[in-house]
Amino acid sequence: MIYLDNAATTKASRAAVNCMIDYGETAYFNPSAGYAQALAVKKELQNAAAILAGLLGANREEIIFTSCATESNNWAFECGLKNKKGNVVVSAMEHASVYESAMRLKSRGADVRFIPLDKSGHVTEDALLSVIDGNTAFVSIIHCSNETGCVNDIGSLCAAAKAVSPKLVFHADGVQAFCKIPTDVHASGVDLYSVSAHKVGGYKGVGALYVKKGFNMQPYMAGGGQQDGRRSGTENVGGIVGFAAAAAEYKEKARAFAVLGLRERLASKFAGLSGVKINGDGANSGYILSLSFDGLRGEVLANMVEQRGVLIGLGSACSTHVRSNRVLSAMGVADAYAAGSVRLSFSPDTTEEEALDAADIILSAAKELKEKIHG
Ligand code: PLP
Repeated sequence: MIYLDNAATTKASRAAVNCMIDYGETAYFNPSAGYAQALAVKKELQNAAAILAGLLGANREEIIFTSCATESNNWAFECGLKNKKGNVVVSAMEHASVYESAMRLKSRGADVRFIPLDKSGHVTEDALLSVIDGNTAFVSIIHCSNETGCVNDIGSLCAAAKAVSPKLVFHADGVQAFCKIPTDVHASGVDLYSVSAHKVGGYKGVGALYVKKGFNMQPYMAGGGQQDGRRSGTENVGGIVGFAAAAAEYKEKARAFAVLGLRERLASKFAGLSGVKINGDGANSGYILSLSFDGLRGEVLANMVEQRGVLIGLGSACSTHVRSNRVLSAMGVADAYAAGSVRLSFSPDTTEEEALDAADIILSAAKELKEKIHG
């Protein structure tokens, strides 16, 4: 089996698995209890926060653990909006957990505006400036697209937005960027930044939100007052400690992966072929290759490829009846291509041999499909 759906989730690292066992069977104490064993567990949580903070360019106290990045993103929208009268600006390339959070605010009467994308699949400063104004209260722009791997320069975008509306809150969804591309939340100036464990070798159901020091973020989860009252709920200790261990390991491996240039090599196998489009130009994480095949159905192609031992993704926003892709459409990808899109996504453990074998399998499956359809 060749697994090329790492943007959906990654295999858990051995360190993360060991943490689940250790904190499940041995150090299973509630970190909020008062005895020494529990205090030791609490220390481990603080250590995990320090490790993640180091990877993000933050301070330990600025990291709050959540149940997933979907929670982190929802929290940002529900509690990060201080000026309730101001408008809310999000890009047209957001993950569903941001997009739907914005739509929920809109359904409550908020003025929600979308930043258009350029053809390369990025948010430009000009596009941002075309929708914000002095009354913008909240901006959310994804750091790296889960559809195309396109990377936005959130530091420049944040500075440009704050120059227009200095009090606005800037949130970035960093799920597909974290540990893959350089991330320095302090340098970029963002107020809130979401990450998820299972995209970097941690467990599913663990995430975090970076909240800039001094930002008075109201809790989303009410309850026992864990994490200094900022996020109630007994912490998923094994998952959190494993998240930190996995992320540190992932970042280390990511250096060697970057040198490999796997995405570009793979892309060159598809470039220039008639009826095939590579979605997204320019700055890319190197971990996602989005391809569109004119006139084919992405799910049929993915199914065929699966029969031949290769697991690939479809990207998001697909239903069994209508296959449209909000993000690709926003980049100007024609419907006939968008419907035939598939997503190949890598981890630092993906080998060149696997990726090139997968490319051959995808190409021959696409050719067969085309012949079936067009004779
Ligand atoms: N944001 C992005 C960009 C993602 O790719 C994902 C997961 O697919 C999420 C948010 C949601 O993460 P989680 O699965 O931890 O809720």
